[in-house]
Amino acid sequence: MEKIVAELPLKAKEKATENKKFFAKLKKKPPKNLDYLMQELHEDEFERTDCLTCANCCKTTGPLFTNADIERIAKHVRLKPQKFIDTYLRLDEENDYVLQQVPCAFLGTDNFCSIYDVRPKACKEFPHTDRKKFQQISHLTMKNVAICPAAFNIVEEMKKRIGI
Ligand code: SF4
Ligand code: SF4
Repeated sequence: MEKIVAELPLKAKEKATENKKFFAKLKKKPPKNLDYLMQELHEDEFERTDCLTCANCCKTTGPLFTNADIERIAKHVRLKPQKFIDTYLRLDEENDYVLQQVPCAFLGTDNFCSIYDVRPKACKEFPHTDRKKFQQISHLTMKNVAICPAAFNIVEEMKKRIGI
């Protein structure tokens, strides 16, 4: 997996123009069964992919933390929400709370998440490939294919399956 992750930014760069064209067409005319197809592609890919051998999302990007995430996780780690923010988070350019640093402080050396059951919603949903109306997040997906090997494979399979 290490080699796959290391090669991913370059592979994603090579596909960038093709992906941009594909998503522009997809946005104009999404197939009627897109939600079903994405569910299928997502499930198939994550049956093959073991995130515990990767954790590249936790190592390189990290999620946005909503207020509900902050309340829930702060309670879990027995901190007051403000103390949790001061310890782990910062505001980004868009005024969203994000990690102060990556790799995420909650990621173990074994790639397990120490707050898995209460992890941020964005972690739960990453890489968002089973999201409804997937064509609406193409900008985010084009970034994610350089981070997440599963997202990369899902987009490649999508292009094969949707002949546009
Ligand atoms: S979601 Fe993607 S980047 Fe994150 S651990 Fe799984 S395969 Fe790796
Ligand atoms: S909270 Fe857990 S799942 Fe989310 S980035 Fe940190 S280690 Fe990964």
